[in-house]
Amino acid sequence: MMRRFRPTFLIAAAAATVVGTPARAQSSAGGSDVPCAVPMSWTVAGIDRRFDLSTESAARALRDAGRLWERAVGSDLFRFDADAGSPLFFEYDERQAGVEERREREQEVERERRDIEAGRTRLDEASRRYESAGARYERGLAEYDRAVQAYNDDVRRWSREREVPPSVQSDLDRRRDELDRTLRALDDGRRDLRRLADSIQKDVDAFNERVDALADQNAALARDFPGSTAESGTYDEIVSRSNGRLVSVSRRIRIFRFSSHDDLVMVLAHELGHALGLGHARDDGAVMSAIIAPSASVIPSGTVTPMDVRMLSARCPRLGGRVQHRIDPRDRIREVQLRGTM
Ligand SMILES: [Zn+2]
Repeated sequence: MMRRFRPTFLIAAAAATVVGTPARAQSSAGGSDVPCAVPMSWTVAGIDRRFDLSTESAARALRDAGRLWERAVGSDLFRFDADAGSPLFFEYDERQAGVEERREREQEVERERRDIEAGRTRLDEASRRYESAGARYERGLAEYDRAVQAYNDDVRRWSREREVPPSVQSDLDRRRDELDRTLRALDDGRRDLRRLADSIQKDVDAFNERVDALADQNAALARDFPGSTAESGTYDEIVSRSNGRLVSVSRRIRIFRFSSHDDLVMVLAHELGHALGLGHARDDGAVMSAIIAPSASVIPSGTVTPMDVRMLSARCPRLGGRVQHRIDPRDRIREVQLRGTM
């Protein structure tokens, strides 16, 4: 349509189509307008220093992400160079800050959980001590009952006699004193048991309160950091055309949040997938699923899935040489239908 030749790149760039609105808001048009342009070069171009991430680690994650695709299709797709290629930026904002805050809160909850578990062990021990002290008390009580029974029998027997010998009388007196002492000791024992039970009960109540508080903390954590809302990265490109002819394409990946190396690899694999020309997959576990990092602690499948590969070989048939043998023809038909409705 545009008849006039635009001589300079700058003007062409001004007339460029910007593809790649924020990744998570992307429709099926999320993939590159200049797809399958392999080998595609990428380089780590900038890392906000607030990320706890070295250039080497970032480059390693980028390579790992690229290899996920390359292994799946069996051919070279990317080049990773220290100072050439499309740029990868790490831009720090509240999203990564949120990841870090969540991690800290999770660690706090975990410490409390362990502390509570240790408390549970102590309570179990205390309650075992109480059980065995109670059993000792019961045995002492039964023994006392038998001794009282025997004493009473003897007293009744001697009371039928005309006369009680002094030695028997003093023996009965001695046994009676002994029984009184035993009863006092049993009373003391019962009071000790009651005190022990009260103190264990207090500990149990405090323990239960902590368990409840931990459940609240967990709920608050889930409430304050709902997964899948924060965008992890974006792929953008500027395509310049002149007279319908491609003049240039400049690509860029920006990463905003990740919780671990593995998480970062998956986020990067997702954005590289957009760069290859792929939109979003409908499978939740797929690399190209719109929800790639549902939460800081959950890592998706960790690999390129058959769904991703089917998408890639549909978009870039010449990349799928080895892949096509693996694809069930019925899946291909279904894939075509899916793409049509996306
Ligand atoms: Zn995306």
